[in-house]
Amino acid sequence: MDYQKIFSNIVSQMQSFKDSGNLANYIPELGNVSPQKFGVHLVTIENSNYNLGDSAEKFSIQSISKVLSLTLAFEIEEENLWKRVGVEPSGTPFNSLIQLEHDEGIPRNPFINAGAIVVADILVSHLQNPKKEFLEFVRKLSGNSTITYSDIIAESEKSTGYRNAALCNLMKSFGNIKNDIDVVLDFYFNLCSIEMTCDELAKTFLFLANYGKNSITGDKIISTSKSKRINAVMQLCGLYDEAGEFSFKVGLPGKSGVGGGIVAVHPGKYSIAVWSPRLNKKGNSNKGMKFLEEFTTATESSIF
Ligand code: GLN
Repeated sequence: MDYQKIFSNIVSQMQSFKDSGNLANYIPELGNVSPQKFGVHLVTIENSNYNLGDSAEKFSIQSISKVLSLTLAFEIEEENLWKRVGVEPSGTPFNSLIQLEHDEGIPRNPFINAGAIVVADILVSHLQNPKKEFLEFVRKLSGNSTITYSDIIAESEKSTGYRNAALCNLMKSFGNIKNDIDVVLDFYFNLCSIEMTCDELAKTFLFLANYGKNSITGDKIISTSKSKRINAVMQLCGLYDEAGEFSFKVGLPGKSGVGGGIVAVHPGKYSIAVWSPRLNKKGNSNKGMKFLEEFTTATESSIF
């Protein structure tokens, strides 16, 4: 498949696409990114690479990191993990507090902020040095030892992270946060601050396109069963209250972040990462979603 040509065709076809939406300036540093940036990178499980635009520029992966923290926590906790966080779509915004009280502090899934904060708490409980060990894990997944946190972004988010603090406090009141709130939030803000290029992001997620094994590095990261389950949760919850729309239009398991990135995988075929910072009302990349829709249409590669 000539993915390179398909990328160029879609970009010229989308020239008239109106890229509306705002940057995630509730995290002040994210408001400083150029809104017109656009990059895409696809890597096949045979390690063929295709890219276009600003695909080699770093950006804040934000909630995309939640898939990586979930992967590590699932390895550590096995099935016990699901006692503390569910696998159901929430149908609510990523930072919503509403369901959490009703659900007695058990978040619907690991990709809404509440769920990712519980996963962060689990990692804080198990790891001696959570920041260091999580970064080592991400570097192993990506096959790239230069990936790191952005202290500036983490600090920026911490300075305005009132809703996340509220979610964490509410869950603590229900007994679903075991560690000190400040320690858990600090780790959560840091894991959201990881920066990657589209190229690095696509490669980092290759293990989920290849049944748990990174086909570039040869590392078996997780079992086939866990890989399928993580993809299932991405399919149903990866884009929050727009997960239905994403399944409907793109048809791949995917995960978004408020830095404007979206990563999606086609098991047995490829991993693709796209970046465009303007967000729609649900906090997902506006142009990124449209590009992926056009891409799976042109390549007839929705999983359905
Ligand atoms: N760090 C962001 C937050 O907690 C992540 C949100 C996102 O990317 N959807 O609000």
